[in-house]
Amino acid sequence: MAPVDAPADLIAPPRPAPVPAAARLAYVLAHFGQAYADVPAGAIGPAGSGAPVEVADRTGGFFSQTHPQPGAPNWRDWHGQRVPFFFDDDARPLLTLTPGRAEIAADIISAAFYLLSGWQEYFSTERDAHGRFPYAASVQARYGFVALPAVNYYFDVLKTALAHATGRALPLRRGPGGAPFAACITHDVDSLHGGWGTAARHRLRQGQLPQLLKLLWRRARRRPGPWDNLELVQAETARYGAPSTFFILGDARPAPNGVPNADYDARAPAFRARLGRLAAAGAEIASHGSYGTAHDAARVAGERAALGPPAPRGNRFHYLCWGPARTPGALAEAGVGYDSTLGFAEHYGFRHSYCRPFFPFDFERGRAAGFLEIPLNVMDATLHHPKYLRLAPNELLPALAPMLAEIEKFGGVATVLWHNQNFDPANAANGPRQFHEIMGWLHGHGAAFRTGSEIWAEWPAAQGPGGF
Ligand SMILES: [Zn+2]
Repeated sequence: MAPVDAPADLIAPPRPAPVPAAARLAYVLAHFGQAYADVPAGAIGPAGSGAPVEVADRTGGFFSQTHPQPGAPNWRDWHGQRVPFFFDDDARPLLTLTPGRAEIAADIISAAFYLLSGWQEYFSTERDAHGRFPYAASVQARYGFVALPAVNYYFDVLKTALAHATGRALPLRRGPGGAPFAACITHDVDSLHGGWGTAARHRLRQGQLPQLLKLLWRRARRRPGPWDNLELVQAETARYGAPSTFFILGDARPAPNGVPNADYDARAPAFRARLGRLAAAGAEIASHGSYGTAHDAARVAGERAALGPPAPRGNRFHYLCWGPARTPGALAEAGVGYDSTLGFAEHYGFRHSYCRPFFPFDFERGRAAGFLEIPLNVMDATLHHPKYLRLAPNELLPALAPMLAEIEKFGGVATVLWHNQNFDPANAANGPRQFHEIMGWLHGHGAAFRTGSEIWAEWPAAQGPGGF
């Protein structure tokens, strides 16, 4: 059942909005040019165009109708990796290389547009109780490739064809400062005052009676509780030279359907001073758009303004709420520089099958939205939750490592969400130990740790009017 404040367009089918071939090609090539340096203009075109690189047109009218999913993908081998190619019913080899020319048999332009634009979410009518597009309804779930960034592989195919046809090297743009990739460590702050019961039960189970008495004394004296720990979160993250990006809820009132927002007052002067100290120590303060605002530019703008001045550059919606029809337009209208909502709550991986920041497609306006999306790859709650995955404590990093390795391979950004309450040692399932295992992997593989704003500032084309 939909919550009472879910915007109607998250549930009802949106109006058809066919996207012309030229707009699809421009959207895909703009992102290709952000991923690889030295891409020449005009070198890629459809079959029969005479361009040095010709890509087969296998849309079959798909983009002038409203089905959320195309036919099943054709799985091909690409340098030892099985990759799903949509819009590919061809038995020919993927690449045909002749002197000065290349032909690509799969329609990787259409497949890249389909996945990167989020077409499946815009045209699907499936929504969960929070108005979200469910992982179970996705092509990633249906064909089993959520941890594979298929669009990055399509771009690798395109780069290979283009390098052959033009003789240019087309190097991959990697992480800042020569790092192989970047990582963005984020913390959504939903609760500061909870956690007393969890901590008390943990100490009781461990037989830590003095610590239990101390906890009860602190509770009685109204001292900060176990989750009131933002400075600890920052210090634990800084052990790897990583800055924290905190997403702060601007609204303490529950949503009309009872979903809680903050249990703290972000406007209280003492709390504002505390956020200022965290920022002075290197953290970024961003806005955690409250429940029910993902379609509402005025409320997004109001919550951002309340955390300023200056208003924070970044946003992530509470509960990862996102309505593909109206959220891109609302975020752009509210003046957000970047968003980091787009991951599946139910599964780690790549919701848009892409491991680098990108500009979401605004179907209402038929073009890229003017803010950068830093896609979310892994949320602590996803890994161990009755409704999501139920990985054992020692299964988390082995499950995530192949996905993280894909981000490293393509010079992307590994975005991690670890809530402040999961820095409490009472959590042995997806708590501080598992956080440190993930951080150890990222640090050991040479990630450049950045805040969301730093990634925005260093990303090509992020500051231009309208994105690019
Ligand atoms: Zn939240």
